[in-house]
Amino acid sequence: MVGGDADFFAVPADLEDLLKLLVFARHANLEIFILGRGSNLLVADSGIRGLVIDMRHFNSFEAQGKTLILGSGLSISDAAWRAGSVGMAGLDFLFGMPGTVGGALWMNARCCGLQISDFVAWIEVMDLEGRIERIVVPDNEWGYKKSLFQRERLIILKARFDVVQGNSKALRLAMSAKRESRISKGHYIFPCAGSAFKNNREFGAPSGVLIDHCGMKGYRVGGAAVSTWHGNIIVNDRGAAATDIEAILLAVAKRVETEIGVQLEREILLVGEWGNGQ
Ligand SMILES: Cc1cc2nc3c(=O)[nH]c(=O)nc-3n(C[C@H](O)[C@H](O)[C@H](O)COP(=O)(O)OP(=O)(O)OC[C@H]3O[C@@H](n4cnc5c(N)ncnc54)[C@H](O)[C@@H]3O)c2cc1C
Repeated sequence: MVGGDADFFAVPADLEDLLKLLVFARHANLEIFILGRGSNLLVADSGIRGLVIDMRHFNSFEAQGKTLILGSGLSISDAAWRAGSVGMAGLDFLFGMPGTVGGALWMNARCCGLQISDFVAWIEVMDLEGRIERIVVPDNEWGYKKSLFQRERLIILKARFDVVQGNSKALRLAMSAKRESRISKGHYIFPCAGSAFKNNREFGAPSGVLIDHCGMKGYRVGGAAVSTWHGNIIVNDRGAAATDIEAILLAVAKRVETEIGVQLEREILLVGEWGNGQ
């Protein structure tokens, strides 16, 4: 585990709890951070000021016909497996990816040429005043690793996905193969936060290839290193501090800019209190 503690950490059991937490935060003048599974985050060593709300109990799963309604705290991989197991195809491309339905929507998670927004019908959200609304997000609000949630302060509660009928046995086999592929690419060997930098087609090659080209595979600071098997994965293999990982992110971006002339965009989200104002 990397990073420090939050001032306040809460795991609401239901909507009523969530509403009480929003009132508490408002009266205590606390910043709120909504946590999925933390699989895309680098939390500062000094922790997070304010209230962190962990959405894990919002983990409902409803499957009807060609419709899935999924709670935001449900593991996206579990959702894909459960849907596939009842012959619902669509979200299976997300099997094996860490994180929750809420985190995947926030990031517009993608894999194998598909993105989660391709399947969304509506999303139920709560604003920080506690008002609940069901929204249909227009296509132009979604992009490569982009969603309107990165701009608007909304808590994702649940979402409806339109999927298609499939064969449960074939879907399970395909999903198992996806997991094998992730295992063979070294996704789960050491703790990491997935891709460190976004890919950009204009750069002519994936970020990992550019980083490798600059000789940065294996580059180490303290307890963390660029993995030796993939240039875009930074692993915590020796009890890293968050600042070790941050130093690698900065060094890699600088080297790629100096040697190749492109500015990599960070995908890992730095959260909490960073001394340098990041
Ligand atoms: C081994 C590994 C492989 C990965 N592979 C992929 C991949 O193939 N494709 C890909 O796109 N990503 C990948 N990732 C990155 C990560 O899994 C995704 O970004 C995931 O969607 C993050 O989900 P999370 O629940 O962990 O979100 P968190 O990391 O907890 O949060 C991410 C952001 O979402 C916000 N958020 C979370 N839940 C809610 C909610 N209910 N309401 C409002 N905001 C919310 C948080 O505030 C934060 O800003 C990978 C990561 C790892 C570690």
